[in-house]
Amino acid sequence: MDQDTSGDARFDADDEDAQGWQLQANCLGVDPDLFFPERGASTKEAKAVCRGCVVREDCLEYALANGEKFGIWGGLSERERRKIRRQRALARAAAASQSATG
Ligand code: SF4
Repeated sequence: MDQDTSGDARFDADDEDAQGWQLQANCLGVDPDLFFPERGASTKEAKAVCRGCVVREDCLEYALANGEKFGIWGGLSERERRKIRRQRALARAAAASQSATG
């Protein structure tokens, strides 16, 4: 499968915004492949690492903001993140139509 998992690093070391929380990540030093399982492979192990992570929220928001399409971020799979994006888009649309109608 041809996925861009950004080389060996879980995070991009050049991204200054993300540095603070990334240094507290539970997955630092964990094999990054664990977080990019092949299609259909188990995500259980990765999610178990995320479960005890103190920067889980930051990680999830980072992934959502950067449109990360692959892998486990903030304890959520690509499909689970898509669902959140959809829910937020719907909420934004509802808020916009409410403010438009007064
Ligand atoms: S939530 Fe998971 S992927 Fe994100 S920093 Fe924590 S351990 Fe790593």
